Amino acid sequence: MKFDVVTIFPRMVESLLEEGILARAVKSGVIDVVAHDLRDFTTDRHRVVDDVAFGGGPGMVLKPEPIFRALEHVREARGTPEAVILPSPQGRRFSHADARRLSELSHVVVVCGRYEGIDERVRDALATDEISVGDYVLSGGELPALVILDAVARQIPGVVGDQDSVAQDSFAGGLLDYPHYTRPAEFRGMRVPDVLLSGHHAEIARWRRREALRRTLERRPDLLESAALDAEARAWLDELRKAERSTR
Ligand code: SAM
Repeated sequence: MKFDVVTIFPRMVESLLEEGILARAVKSGVIDVVAHDLRDFTTDRHRVVDDVAFGGGPGMVLKPEPIFRALEHVREARGTPEAVILPSPQGRRFSHADARRLSELSHVVVVCGRYEGIDERVRDALATDEISVGDYVLSGGELPALVILDAVARQIPGVVGDQDSVAQDSFAGGLLDYPHYTRPAEFRGMRVPDVLLSGHHAEIARWRRREALRRTLERRPDLLESAALDAEARAWLDELRKAERSTR
């Protein structure tokens, strides 16, 4: 998958590609990431990428010309992208479903905003998606671009060593993940649940499914509305809800 990021801080993006799972994915060629310096697409001596807002007001706005040129360069050098994403607090909230959908594309571009944002004509003429990573305002689109890249890359087969672990992550099956423990079995008086030490695989699987359900009910009950639950899970959910009501 080709992933291009247009930014005034390319090193910020490149630094995350130097370690961990993303670094391995780049090295093995599963993802091909290029960070483009927006200033390379300016035509003036000072490489200016921003200007004051028409109508006045505080803050600067990223100019359209360098961004249009950057996108033209991406098209010529790397082919026509299937998605051009603008990270923005005004966008649709990024979700697991978006990560999955984008992971099936072969070429994605992210254009990182800065200052007050990007000239609206970029959104009108170039963007296919406007994505928010949460209801708060960051200083630029670089961290959201990396959030999107990481979440998308994890969904591409071969990026995470054990694909089963991705399938069991929170949201993948519609629920939150179950709790995880490692050695020692007892630490400062806190014991790992006996069932996990029992070696009984079916019981362990049952416990994990039930704990995932319990967590989801406690922390994100909204997810249960769209989760595909079998009869056993629905019966557990009724029990958990009853237990919850009786402790109120
Ligand atoms: N004036 C804009 C507003 O209130 O909607 C905020 C601009 S913000 C300071 C600068 C850039 O950071 C945005 O153009 C966008 O690229 C990025 N950004 C900030 N918060 C974001 C969020 N929650 N999700 C995605 N991108 C965000």
